[in-house]
Amino acid sequence: MVDSIGAGRYAPSPSGDLHIGNLRTALLAWLFARSSGRHFRLRFEDLDRTADGAAERQRDDLAAIGLDWDPPEMRQSSRLDVYAGVVTELMSVGRTFECFCTRREILEAPSAPHSPPGAYPGTCRHLTEAERAARRASGRRPAIRLLSDTDTFTVTDELHGAQTGTMDDFVLVRGDGTYAYNLVVVVDDGAQGVDQVVRGDDLLSSAPRQAYLATLLGIRPPVYAHVPMVLNTDHIRLAKRDGAVTLSDLHAAGITTAQVVSLMAESLGLASPGEPVSTQALLQRFSPQRLPREPWIFEPPQLVED
Ligand code: GLU
Repeated sequence: MVDSIGAGRYAPSPSGDLHIGNLRTALLAWLFARSSGRHFRLRFEDLDRTADGAAERQRDDLAAIGLDWDPPEMRQSSRLDVYAGVVTELMSVGRTFECFCTRREILEAPSAPHSPPGAYPGTCRHLTEAERAARRASGRRPAIRLLSDTDTFTVTDELHGAQTGTMDDFVLVRGDGTYAYNLVVVVDDGAQGVDQVVRGDDLLSSAPRQAYLATLLGIRPPVYAHVPMVLNTDHIRLAKRDGAVTLSDLHAAGITTAQVVSLMAESLGLASPGEPVSTQALLQRFSPQRLPREPWIFEPPQLVED
């Protein structure tokens, strides 16, 4: 599956329908990938909350706005064995430890100088086998953390430049046995041959951890472009409750798919107001350097009730 062309990707969580902010990020990921001759992959990150039929509707909406992708699609829920194998491998080379701390204990523990709030203070790093046994016996189910061997890690983002993150011992497997996003995203990008990650800039601070883990797993970290988000008129991240924001809600409010594409293109400086434009035409116009660096403020039409 991995080849020399490289690939970009869009990796939605199928917890509901995509809104215009998600669709715009997907459009950007597609433009970055296709304009650089890469494959484009689709991956459903369905380990957490999912809604019935959401993946299928997300796929339909992505196709409706004119995106295409290269098979096979990936679903994380079918890859639990792969994640288990990676964790076992990290364990066998001594790169993990069990952590019995609650969230509250982590927040209340004295933190190392210069570490950001919420960073793991290292409490369970050096427990003895007897201490671990005692904690297990108290009924606590341990999370598995990465034993990090560096304080910081730096990635380069095409839009934000160098980003340095503090490398604490982040969680790979939660106490309830579910695999953490920071683990699976790295494993799956590697498996899908993804060498270009384009996503919302709310995930910028996660990139150094993910790139560091990639290097430990022998995966070359991708290039990153964290793109501006879509906000509501209160300048808060757009959400379903803001009104008609999904393709089907926008249709119900009288806005066609073609008009949604025009609106997104205009917001990216790739079309003039109201200009009908296909995603193929946008590919000819797209230039990462000319992307607006500010969030797009979207005022949704009122939701039309059924
Ligand atoms: N599944 C994540 C989301 O929908 C995206 C993760 C990523 O692009 O790395 O927010």
